[in-house]
Amino acid sequence: MRLKCIKLAGFKSFVDPTTVPFPTNMSGIVGPNGCGKSNIIDAVRWVMGESSAKNLRGESMTDVIFNGSKGRKPVGQASVELVFDNSDSTLKGEYAKYNEISIRRKVTRDAKNAYYLNGVKCRRKDITDIFLGTGLGPRSYAIISQGIVSNLIESKPEELRVFIEEAAGISKYKERRRETENR
Ligand code: ATP
Ligand code: MG
Repeated sequence: MRLKCIKLAGFKSFVDPTTVPFPTNMSGIVGPNGCGKSNIIDAVRWVMGESSAKNLRGESMTDVIFNGSKGRKPVGQASVELVFDNSDSTLKGEYAKYNEISIRRKVTRDAKNAYYLNGVKCRRKDITDIFLGTGLGPRSYAIISQGIVSNLIESKPEELRVFIEEAAGISKYKERRRETENR
């Protein structure tokens, strides 16, 4: 499975609809300080269901909406879509039949979130479930941002176990057990 492109609109500094393509297995994003490189990574985390504003370098969850700049008024909503190539059927079960999987999240100023899977409205849980155990997800080790390596080195054994469980693919079973126990 490969990320094909990210489509952003109204997200942080990406006020106008922008498509960032990833045409090969390795892509680099370069640009001057403050041009929005890290905002793209924040967008990936956000669309996969990140629910902590701090992890997105903001104070509140609506801080991801473009809040205006010189000559541009703030906008009312932010939207990010990730398009994955699933032609190798990495995603099993009901998703295996889709060559392309698109997930989208939208938030408005009144902090209402909406999630879409291949264009159809879904729950946040539907999105997080897809990626559980794949190594992808808002907090997964697939995204190594500034400070993560030192966090790993300094983490307590029980925190380190969360990373290992995700890598080993057992976190989804633990999550399901938790859900069953809470019913
Ligand atoms: P560096 O090389 O320093 O790491 P970068 O390319 O990673 O820089 P980012 O941190 O992605 O840069 O982008 C920071 C820019 O995004 C700042 O100019 C900031 O004003 C802008 N920005 C962040 N949130 C918003 C928002 N909600 N609305 C408008 N602009 C925003
Ligand atoms: Mg940066």
